Amino acid sequence: MTKLLMVKGVPADVCIQCGEIYYTVDAAKALESLENEVLKGSAKLTELDNAYDVPLAAAH
Ligand SMILES: [Zn+2]
Repeated sequence: MTKLLMVKGVPADVCIQCGEIYYTVDAAKALESLENEVLKGSAKLTELDNAYDVPLAAAH
């Protein structure tokens, strides 16, 4: 079963030319560490219908 991980408040940019969404380096790193926390089971998750709502700590 595939689970979706929904993360709010991720800063991202959109390419004006092709519309592709890409993350800042800080955001990408934060998502990567968050993914690791989720895999380890140490992240605090709020289960929604078919997704998880994860509070993302502010990236510094
Ligand atoms: Zn582009």
